[in-house]
Amino acid sequence: MVNFKKARERMVQAQVMARGVHDERVLEAMRKVPRHLFVDEALRDQAYSDHPLPIAENQTISQPYIVGLMTESLELKGAEKVLEIGTGSGYQSAVLAELADRVFSIERHPELGYRANSILRNLGYDNVIIRVGDGSLGWPDDAPFDGIIVTAGTPMIPQPLIDQLAMGGRLIVPVGDRIAQDLILVQRGREGIKKTNLGGVRFVNLVGKWGWKE
Ligand code: SAM
Repeated sequence: MVNFKKARERMVQAQVMARGVHDERVLEAMRKVPRHLFVDEALRDQAYSDHPLPIAENQTISQPYIVGLMTESLELKGAEKVLEIGTGSGYQSAVLAELADRVFSIERHPELGYRANSILRNLGYDNVIIRVGDGSLGWPDDAPFDGIIVTAGTPMIPQPLIDQLAMGGRLIVPVGDRIAQDLILVQRGREGIKKTNLGGVRFVNLVGKWGWKE
C-alpha cells in the first residue's frame, strides 16, 4: 500500500525541485493536491511517478515536473483569474485553484469535463468553473485573464488566447508539430507581446478551430 503523502513529497523533491522549480507556493500546492485521486483507480500506485499517465478518451495527465514548470511560469500570487485549456483529469486545475483566486477551465471531451468537475467538487474546490467546448477560442465572456495555460500542443498560438490576456498577463502554451513542441511563454506588457522559449515538451494535440483538425 503506497503512502501517498510520502510519495507526493518525494515527487516534489526528486522530480520538481531537482529540475529547477523553486516557487514555494507552487511546491506547496503540489505537496497538497492528492494527484492519485485524479487518475483511474488501477493507476493510483503510479500517480506520483516521473511520467504522464493515460486518462480516458486517449488523453493524458501531464508529468508532475511539467505541471510544476508551467504553473511556475505564470508567477501566480493569489489574486489572479486564470484560464486553463484542456481540463483532462482536473489535476492541473486543482493546482491552479490553490494558487489563484478563480480558475476557468475548458475541456473538449464532455466525459472528462464531468469527471474532473465531480472530483474537484468532492475535494471542495469551489473556485474552479469547468466548461465543455473548444478551448482554442478561449472564454471571451470572462476575459481578460491574468494567466492562461494551454495543456495540449498546437501548431500556432491561438489568437483569441492572446487577445484574452490581461495587461501584465502570462500565457504558457506548447507550440510545434503533432509529436513535439516548444513551451512558449507569452507576456503582455506595455511594449507589446514578448515570447520566451522554455524548452521542448510532448503534449497530446489541441483539437479545435485554432489548433489541429481532428
Ligand atoms: N491539464 C490536464 C490534467 O491536469 O490532467 C492534462 C490535459 S491533457 C494533456 C490535454 C487535454 O486537452 C485533453 O483532455 C484534451 O481532451 C484537451 N483538449 C484538446 N483540445 C482541446 C480544445 N480545443 N479545447 C479544450 N480541451 C482540449
